[in-house]
Amino acid sequence: MLQKAVTLLKKHFGYHSFKAGQEQIIGSILQGHDTVGIMPTGGGKSICYQIPALLSGTTLVISPLISLMKDQVEALRSLGIPAAFINSSLDYRELFAVLAQARQGKYKIIYIAPERLESEQFTDMVNELEITLLAVDEAHCVSQWGHDFRPAYLAISPFVKRLNRRPVVAAFTATATTEVTRDIVNQLALDKPNVFITGFDRANLFFAVVNGENKRDFVGHYLAENRDKPGIIYAATRKEVDQLHAYLQQKGFSAGKYHAGMTAPERDHSQERFIYDDSRVMVATNAFGMGIDKSNVRYVIHYHMPKNMEAYYQEAGRAGRDDEPAECILLFSPQDVQIQRFLIENSIPSPERRDSEYKKLQSMVDYCHTSRCLRGEILHYFGQADAPENCANCSNCNNEGELIDITVDAQKILSCAWRMRERFGITMIAGVLKGSKSKKVLQYGFDQLPSHGLLRNYTEKEIQHLIKVLIAEGYLGLTEGQYPVVRLLPGAAPVIKGEQKVFHQKLVKKRQETVDQSLFDRLRQLRREIAQREQAPPYVIFPDSTLREMCESLPADDSALLAVKGVGEARLRNYGHLFLDVLRDYIGEGTQITPDVTQPEIKQEGQTASHLVTYNMYKEGRSINEIVRLRGLKTITIQDHIIRCGQEGYDLNWNDFIDPRYEQLILEKIKELGTDKLKPIKDGLPAEVDYFNIRAVICKYGVELSVN
Ligand code: ADP
Repeated sequence: MLQKAVTLLKKHFGYHSFKAGQEQIIGSILQGHDTVGIMPTGGGKSICYQIPALLSGTTLVISPLISLMKDQVEALRSLGIPAAFINSSLDYRELFAVLAQARQGKYKIIYIAPERLESEQFTDMVNELEITLLAVDEAHCVSQWGHDFRPAYLAISPFVKRLNRRPVVAAFTATATTEVTRDIVNQLALDKPNVFITGFDRANLFFAVVNGENKRDFVGHYLAENRDKPGIIYAATRKEVDQLHAYLQQKGFSAGKYHAGMTAPERDHSQERFIYDDSRVMVATNAFGMGIDKSNVRYVIHYHMPKNMEAYYQEAGRAGRDDEPAECILLFSPQDVQIQRFLIENSIPSPERRDSEYKKLQSMVDYCHTSRCLRGEILHYFGQADAPENCANCSNCNNEGELIDITVDAQKILSCAWRMRERFGITMIAGVLKGSKSKKVLQYGFDQLPSHGLLRNYTEKEIQHLIKVLIAEGYLGLTEGQYPVVRLLPGAAPVIKGEQKVFHQKLVKKRQETVDQSLFDRLRQLRREIAQREQAPPYVIFPDSTLREMCESLPADDSALLAVKGVGEARLRNYGHLFLDVLRDYIGEGTQITPDVTQPEIKQEGQTASHLVTYNMYKEGRSINEIVRLRGLKTITIQDHIIRCGQEGYDLNWNDFIDPRYEQLILEKIKELGTDKLKPIKDGLPAEVDYFNIRAVICKYGVELSVN
């Protein structure tokens, strides 16, 4: 049975081996035991029930993430696994249709919202199906001690009791305290379950605590260096989210936002843009992220310290689910502690619970101040005995995160502020230290100060940054109001007198890119186009890690592509040739054997290239639908073939693909919006116009459009 599981892992998911714990959990379920799987976020829980689902009747998955069920089901279908969902978004007719199909055994997996289980009528309907496994996702929602209690989860156990035949019940969560685990077993009435707790380490995550930086500047610099990478910034309040979001937008970053004060459609829209890579950074409160399987999040920045380690690790863990390097950075300031204390004091009435929360808060505060290994601290907190002392991948273990002595520069800044009589703002002080001869500097005679030009080796921006560091560290203060003035605080005196040193922790973590960025970008662009056409998030097509491996191993045929982690048979069939085209082009460029453009007919192993097979059928007078049926390929694949033939100059009658009623309209929109992104063009046209129509128009008018 387990051998079969390995085969399915490759066939459907494209992975060669199991992640820690998966094999044991799958084995336990297949042997018919109730099972609890506790794995960190990104540990790969879904496959633990999806593979058993493929080997038995129908699996019900209870999930609190109603808004994501559609995406989850689509993702499974794209892997060749028949699936459906049942939640409040379906009307009666749709519900009955799903159940009718389910009765015929059409689905392997059905996602269900827990609220459904309360209805007896629903139980009767489910009793007509052959349910072999019931998987409870985010199982900590059943516990009042967990951090996301969902009362509807309490309906699961009575539901299971009402079933004629009890299925195997498996529960999954990333929250590991013994209290919550015990609660899961009891509340779900699990029968002598096997409990598997995998290690909590996420080796690909780099952890950092940044203390005493101006947070806004830090984020500005960080994003400027990581402009193209998807990331999440968590802030404590809606107001902070709004402000930071506005600031980032004004700076020209592609930022979205998410918090509970927005309307549901606003939130959905924003989330969708982020998942589809239309916006790069998501600024959000902790309302965002549960169950979001965006595997290529490259960083999670906490703008404020969260309330406890459970929350921090869950949120930070949303980075790097694809196992590629990712960064988790916590920006700490002492004020964060006050905010959390205030929240505990004002939101938790029970003294017992309050004490427990204070204790958790203190562990979080300790994490922010420790000079020990950050990973070690986290793992230790979650009770992992083999926590490392030096992980070499956190800001404390990493030399580059070392403290820098900035005492001399600090003295220059502090004495300059003092000499300018604490009457000016950051810009003016920085100007004087830089040696500015502006009208205002001359007018006040500051060019005569001994401080004038003392930091001329820095840029003005760098000097401003240093001043802000001194403000954040509490040596300088800013007055309130529209034109804040820099003032010395009591902490400044010992520094000026040379009695105290000032250190600054600088985060400079640069990674060597090992793959050719230009190829990676080309593959990513292709993925984006496919995702837009299929209306699916890009990670559903292929995760970043798979694209990266393609860049490294440069597969040139089907079997080499199939060997790449993340490429299964369904994806190979549907998109393989498109990616191979790009890869072959790239390999050709590198070895100077680019095929002659005047001979577009590229033969592969004695066969006609796939798009030309389509072309020949088209020339025989067959419609796209017919070609789809005859070749057993997806519509989008055949459409791609047609476009490619058009690009290669084959004779096509575009009227076969472009409705003349819309041609001019489409052309105008393309001219107005450009051809970089198809979605805005599609959004601006009648619903009947599809992506293929738009691409056909772009292809038909290609030369004219590029000249304009
Ligand atoms: P969780 O629900 O535990 O947070 P997921 O089930 O969403 O995690 O899996 C996280 C990521 O790991 C997904 O992108 C998934 O495709 C990938 N993954 C799962 N199992 C494996 C495996 N055996 N090898 C490689 N990647 C895997």
